[in-house]
Amino acid sequence: MNETNPHHPPQGTGETRYLTTSIPFVNAAPHIGFALEMIQADCLARLYRLRGHRVRLQAGADENSLKNVLAAEAAGLPVDVFVRRNAERFRALKPALNLSTDDFLRTSCSRRHLDGVDRLWAACAASGDIYKRAYSGLYCIGCEQFYKPTELTDGRCPEHGTKPERVEEDNYFFRLSRYQAPLRDALPGDRSGTPQKRSPGLDRRRSGGLQHFAQRHACPRLGYSGAGRS
Ligand SMILES: [Zn+2]
Repeated sequence: MNETNPHHPPQGTGETRYLTTSIPFVNAAPHIGFALEMIQADCLARLYRLRGHRVRLQAGADENSLKNVLAAEAAGLPVDVFVRRNAERFRALKPALNLSTDDFLRTSCSRRHLDGVDRLWAACAASGDIYKRAYSGLYCIGCEQFYKPTELTDGRCPEHGTKPERVEEDNYFFRLSRYQAPLRDALPGDRSGTPQKRSPGLDRRRSGGLQHFAQRHACPRLGYSGAGRS
């Protein structure tokens, strides 16, 4: 399970701290911004270990994205070959940056990840947290997410500056509104967001009601894609 790292500091016996980085789309090689994120997470993990905590620092690669598929097509490579090549570049950051990462998961093929997703999906389906319906929305491929018109800047994605495309498809939704109260309680006002530019969005969601969110699945992907694998 854990990768061997001779520079890995020893585990403490105190409280458990679980840290995870974002999992990047592997449509390209890692850039300097992601190296910064990894180093920051590693610093935090090392600080917790020095304080005697039991720490798990996890990283990985998001391989189930349409933008990976489009990038593979542009490169003239099969998607699995393309994402494996780039995922290995992200994995190689560990020795290059002397990271103390405990694990690196590939979301299209890591067995323990797929088993975990199966269990989570089954639990959500059993509790009624997931349902399916037809959906029409504005989708940004760069973000791999739907936007409401009010979340756009002059009709464009606030992150990429591109115009989202209108997508209509059957989709699975998670009943996030069920968890409004516990999420609100878990995010007291002064801790709502770091970096601060994310705070307004969190505050708006916390006070204005949580929308059910969609997991887009009806497009070519690798690995897990909703209630089955594509
Ligand atoms: Zn975007």
